[in-house]
Amino acid sequence: MNPSAALNDPLHNAANPLLTGGPLPAFDAIRPEHVGPAIDVLLAAADQALEAAVSDATPADFDALSRVLSVATERLGCAWGAVSHLKGVADTADLRAAYNENLPKVTEFYTRQGADERLYAKYKAIAAGPAATTLNAARQKALAHWLRDFVLSGAELQGEAKTRYAQIQDELARLSQQFSEHVLDATDGFSLVVGADRLAGVPADVLSSTKTDEGHKLTLHMPVYLPVMQYADDRALRRQLYTAYVTRACETGPAERDNTGLMAHILRLRQEEAKLLGYASYAEVSLVPKMARDPAEVMHFLRDLAGRARPYAERDLAELREYARSELGLADLQAWDVPYASEKLKEARYAFSDHELKQYFTEPKVLDGLFRIIETLFEVRIVPDSAPVWHPSVRFYRIERPAPVGSDAAPQVIAQFYLDPYARPGKRPGAWMDDVRSRWQRPDSGALQIPVAHLVCNFSAPVDGKPALLTHDEVQTLFHEFGHGLHHMLTQVAELGVSGISGVEWDAVELPSQFMENFCWEWEVLQHMTAHVDSGAPLPRALFDKMIAAKNFQSGLMTLRQVEFALFDMRLHAEPGSETDVQKVVDEVRREVAVLIPPAFNRFQHTFSHIFAGGYAAGYYSYKWAEVLSADAWSAFEEEGVLNAATGRRYRREILEAGSARDAIDNFRAFRGREPSIDALLRHQGMAG
Ligand SMILES: [Zn+2]
Repeated sequence: MNPSAALNDPLHNAANPLLTGGPLPAFDAIRPEHVGPAIDVLLAAADQALEAAVSDATPADFDALSRVLSVATERLGCAWGAVSHLKGVADTADLRAAYNENLPKVTEFYTRQGADERLYAKYKAIAAGPAATTLNAARQKALAHWLRDFVLSGAELQGEAKTRYAQIQDELARLSQQFSEHVLDATDGFSLVVGADRLAGVPADVLSSTKTDEGHKLTLHMPVYLPVMQYADDRALRRQLYTAYVTRACETGPAERDNTGLMAHILRLRQEEAKLLGYASYAEVSLVPKMARDPAEVMHFLRDLAGRARPYAERDLAELREYARSELGLADLQAWDVPYASEKLKEARYAFSDHELKQYFTEPKVLDGLFRIIETLFEVRIVPDSAPVWHPSVRFYRIERPAPVGSDAAPQVIAQFYLDPYARPGKRPGAWMDDVRSRWQRPDSGALQIPVAHLVCNFSAPVDGKPALLTHDEVQTLFHEFGHGLHHMLTQVAELGVSGISGVEWDAVELPSQFMENFCWEWEVLQHMTAHVDSGAPLPRALFDKMIAAKNFQSGLMTLRQVEFALFDMRLHAEPGSETDVQKVVDEVRREVAVLIPPAFNRFQHTFSHIFAGGYAAGYYSYKWAEVLSADAWSAFEEEGVLNAATGRRYRREILEAGSARDAIDNFRAFRGREPSIDALLRHQGMAG
């Protein structure tokens, strides 16, 4: 549409809250009918900006390009971000319709921009120009990231190779979609109706949720499958359900949802893509924007971890076998007995309930404790503030940096955030951090834009005038998301694309979040962060000791399981030809890593959506990789004091403030003074000594 023709229409001008362009979104005023008109105006402006940016009128100069293009795309991104956010936290049928109607247009713009060869040429001209070496470090990094992303999406390819590259992308998108549909259909396609007599041991809530006129309908969906496997005394039933679960979407089921051929096809296309881009394997392509250097480094890391965890996994398994034999009468522990026996052993050893623990974690006390840690370690103040919000329970804060001691200057506001703590209808489950604005020295006004973040949780709201109570898992989730939030908000980088969490290597981005979880396991912290909802008493030491003991239950077995998945993923993508016999790779990895070999009919790979339908291809190792980094960073605090302000300052400067303007490995080295080591992770999980 032509934006100038619609200027008199209130939906297309400054009366539209998505177009007012204030420093913060008008969350209280945005309505579904504002979305389409605003996005049309902003897309038209972004289109014009893109055309202007690639024309001769815009010189090959970083500033000039930012002024034209980044200003327009940032405005679009912020408006669309506000719409997506509202869809996540205050969904209505009208808003969802408006979102779905506009999503394809927004996606189309960003896809087109990411493939615009004229823009790529402009970036190359900037990089080759005389001013390139005078750009500051952040800008050099941002430019390098743009060029890298263009190359990885085939910008350097010519003629037939270019056409083929595009075909591969289309086909991979289609095949991945099919893969997940098969998983979904195979999961939905199974049900088993049994009488209550076969469900002895299963919790009452599962019995009532599965009840039908004919009996209890069991499915392979987690809320049913998991409790049955954990609690059903009927061994034959567990075996039947397990067998159905691990043979979904494989050759023994209906042919129309067998993923065998799809997996081979996906792997073959990825390999072809890698070859077109000039790499030996798809694993190499996947690692280009990541912290890990090459597949060999990842495989060495995984094998090292497996070797060190193995004795503990063997011990875990021996204990489980012994318990199953002597207490449960299961002399030959099978795969379908493992969750059942583990749950029984865990209950016998660490008898305490989530319910008992949660009485000590009242929301105000926990938030106060969290804010105090942040203020102590990172030399900031968190101050309640106000802004337009989407629900009355949402809070808004500003983060201030106090003036240096001896100065009477006012504190400086360095960031702001929204906290939306409670579950309610229309709000997506889960917890997440999202950016509202990034720190940016704006090229249009010259002003410094401060970062703004969303912190969203789904705690149960307070009832009967009592404060909300959080489970210990929820407390960790809150700390985790604040870790992401601090990474975004405490950054000192002022270049879009490399400030805060933007552009951070994918296998390092969980460092600051997982780091924060460690505070939730420290006696020094918990003593002051807990108060019983009725008595006000802090967490008893005896209960804390049980928590710590239970924390590392079967950590050896769990580590090996994660390594098994990660090594399988990496080998599959690093070894061309592996697609001809995926099962062979599975078997080899199991023989190498697992202490508990699953039955031969187990086809977990046929539902491994992370790598065949998600973004984790040659990236599943990232979970463990980031855990190593966060545990090793935390160990500096263990050595120097959990609330040591000097260590906090160093962590803030070298990791939180640095964004992606410096490589993650260099950030880590600068903080820790050495290379990362897996020792701390093993020690924290009870696998040392
Ligand atoms: Zn996270």
